[in-house]
Amino acid sequence: MYKGESILVTGGAGFIGSHLVEKLQTLQANVSVIDDLSSGKRENVKELYEGDIRSPDFLSSVLKKVKPKYIFHLAANASVPLSVKDPIYDFSVNSAGTLTLLETLRKHHIQAKVILASSGAVYGEPKEFPITEKSTIEPISPYGMSKFCAEEIVSLYSRMFGMEVLIGRIFNSYGPRMPRFVIFDFLNKLKSDPTKLEILGNGKQERDFTFVTDTVQGLLQIGHSGVVGNAYNIATGVSYTVEELARTLLKILNLNSTLNFTGESWLGDAQVWRVSINKLSELGYKPNKSLEQGLEETVKWFNSI
Ligand code: NAD
Repeated sequence: MYKGESILVTGGAGFIGSHLVEKLQTLQANVSVIDDLSSGKRENVKELYEGDIRSPDFLSSVLKKVKPKYIFHLAANASVPLSVKDPIYDFSVNSAGTLTLLETLRKHHIQAKVILASSGAVYGEPKEFPITEKSTIEPISPYGMSKFCAEEIVSLYSRMFGMEVLIGRIFNSYGPRMPRFVIFDFLNKLKSDPTKLEILGNGKQERDFTFVTDTVQGLLQIGHSGVVGNAYNIATGVSYTVEELARTLLKILNLNSTLNFTGESWLGDAQVWRVSINKLSELGYKPNKSLEQGLEETVKWFNSI
């Protein structure tokens, strides 16, 4: 799959994007990257078109050159706290940026299959589990809202103009090259003081931690055999509490640190996510990494930086 195809990855210098680019290169695809390096890193990719997806001129010039057959659209603000702090920026990149991409494709009659990297955040704080693609969409953060608007934009372009679009709702991807969020935060805290670990919240938040190569496998599977116009959850189907995550990490690090819970979570943080991956599994997706294996690889990377 994807061999010899022209593929554009927006946000390809970021965490998930750079792993996706790496995998596509091993599949011998012809990969191009767009990134404005707002959170991505130049060293994550060999070459890139540096620019902002909110600029129609920039997008036009790249799209005309690359003529992609597939576009994995990952460029976004990926931070929930930043979206709370600056919802207008978040909306301008995640929603308006997606509209700019699709409108530029339409204007230049470029027929690419677009796979939008959406988020489990669109479901907000679900009341029924497991979360399926039919669960209620009720975001509880500007980020969840801007991702849902992006979904609506690509769906509209599919209905109105027959564009081939698909949506992957990613849940808590982690692994090497992710320089933020809970696991990186734990590793940093333990590095400066291995005797204790402060955990934001009560530790009871449940998440489906998905190793990044499995997230990438999900995106590739959706692009290859997903039903156009459909959304798919990308997760492992197994959730752990943040406390379980911390204890697994301590076991790997061989530490006996005391856990201190702050009791308070942050605005926009959902409490429980238990996810159904049946729809994606029907396409042949099968997550490969257990939490222990994924954390071991993440620790190895952390110790190397
Ligand atoms: P990331 O921040 O590492 O990647 C996003 C990339 O987009 C960065 O390289 C950034 O520089 C680039 N970018 C941001 N704004 C841009 C703009 N205006 N123009 C061009 N490039 C721009 O985050 P990530 O964790 O790799 O997330 C990738 C995608 O997956 C995002 O769309 C994110 O919302 C989505 N997602 C991630 C997770 C997760 O657990 N990491 C969960 C759900 C959804």
